[in-house]
Amino acid sequence: MSQKHDAIIIGTGQAGPGLARRVSAAGMSVAIVERDLFGGTCVNTGCIPTKALVASAHAAHLARRAADFGVSLGGSVSVDMSKVKSRKDAISEKSRTGVESGLRKLKNCTVYQGHARFVSKHAITVGDQTLEADRIFINVGGRAATPPMPGLDRVPFLTNSSIMSLDTVPPHLIIVGGSYVGLEFGQMFRRFGSEVTIVEMGPRLLPREDEEVSAAILDILQQEQIEVRLNATCVSLSAEGGRVGAQVDCASGSPSEIGTHLLLAVGRRPNTDDLGLDAAGVAIDERGYIVVDDQLRTSTPGIFALGDCNGKGAFTHTAYNDFEIVAANLLDGDSRRVSDRITAYALYIDPPLGRAGLTESEARSRGHDVLVGKRPMSRVGRAIEKGETNGLMKIVVDARSREILGAAILGTGGDEAIHCVLDAMYAKAPYPVLQRAMHIHPTVAEFIPTLLGELSSTP
Ligand SMILES: Cc1cc2nc3c(=O)[nH]c(=O)nc-3n(C[C@H](O)[C@H](O)[C@H](O)COP(=O)(O)OP(=O)(O)OC[C@H]3O[C@@H](n4cnc5c(N)ncnc54)[C@H](O)[C@@H]3O)c2cc1C
Repeated sequence: MSQKHDAIIIGTGQAGPGLARRVSAAGMSVAIVERDLFGGTCVNTGCIPTKALVASAHAAHLARRAADFGVSLGGSVSVDMSKVKSRKDAISEKSRTGVESGLRKLKNCTVYQGHARFVSKHAITVGDQTLEADRIFINVGGRAATPPMPGLDRVPFLTNSSIMSLDTVPPHLIIVGGSYVGLEFGQMFRRFGSEVTIVEMGPRLLPREDEEVSAAILDILQQEQIEVRLNATCVSLSAEGGRVGAQVDCASGSPSEIGTHLLLAVGRRPNTDDLGLDAAGVAIDERGYIVVDDQLRTSTPGIFALGDCNGKGAFTHTAYNDFEIVAANLLDGDSRRVSDRITAYALYIDPPLGRAGLTESEARSRGHDVLVGKRPMSRVGRAIEKGETNGLMKIVVDARSREILGAAILGTGGDEAIHCVLDAMYAKAPYPVLQRAMHIHPTVAEFIPTLLGELSSTP
């Protein structure tokens, strides 16, 4: 016997629960299916636990620097990793149980636990149950990619999920992958007391960022004695008597690194490989991402894909925005689109990088006539007062339209201050509107009008 609902949602990540609330409030019956932990990646192995760990790492870092602020601690600073882990677990658990209990209490909503698989365009199975609906929303997220790397089958390795179970500090952590996830873990474990080596295949960290931003991030990591090996074009791994070896084909430096633990941070892959998408006629691209249009409709009418599994974003806020777009189109008669949104994200090393819109190099390669305003954080009063002068602020403007094209704030408070640029971009305000705004002193954001008053066309 199959259970009929008005809607089925597969996955309780960052889009599914919000959508379940809207659909049930509209009086429709909804089934939501979760195969693992409620709340998905962000809540259990992504944003929330990592930012809790970053906070502990920041406390350790600040404690070690206490004397810089005239504070004496009367002893050396040590990190109790099991307490760090317990704090992180408690924060994640609160969020996870909140998601689960919210869904279980929701009127018109039935929660199913198990792996969902399509058997036709309108039906899925969960264990021995079959569920049917005219509308099915896929919110299955992704997981750490483990690409075939020579020797990987012979060494133990961690991913962003399994590293969450560590309750001791690894003596020497080797991280393969110098992108957003690898850098956050690298700096936090260095601050917990690990020796850290980051191995990156490319010639610089974070190749999507402007070169000066990549260089400033490298400098921040190196100041904390994190070893960064670039140009590691052919990494291979080996077991070295209870330790792990990474052979690194770098332009300079030792050809191999020996560590106690290995973290793979080489990208993500969508959870679409065991979903029965063929049975539903839902098309995927060559990397397994579900193909969707600007309103998140898949190739099969009535089936939508939201969040990381559609390849249109890789963040909690993009997944949540996907839910808002689908709900607006289906329930509010409001034709919101993915292409309406502006790129925005943060990298939570310390100090953080807040990003909005285009980088300078993207703007130039798209043919914009570019004006740029820049300032090192060493010339930002708030940063000087806090003793955190690493990084830079940068804003990019189109000289002809006077619209703001993008910004990067790598510095204390950068993850928050970037929003005043982002909001001006959404408002399509010409830059003098933001330039004339009176901002609060002393803040990082007070320098955004200043940058806009110092724009230059010289690269
Ligand atoms: C280490 C790390 C740090 C991050 N930090 C940030 C950050 O600071 N800020 C930010 O915005 N983003 C961050 N992200 C990214 C963010 O976590 C994801 O973009 C976000 O969780 C995606 O949400 P989602 O709803 O698409 O999928 P997910 O959150 O992955 O949820 C998908 C859910 O679907 C379930 N599921 C999958 N397949 C099935 C199936 N067949 N049947 C039933 N259930 C299924 C899964 O169990 C999971 O619960 C981070 C990611 C990582 C890995």
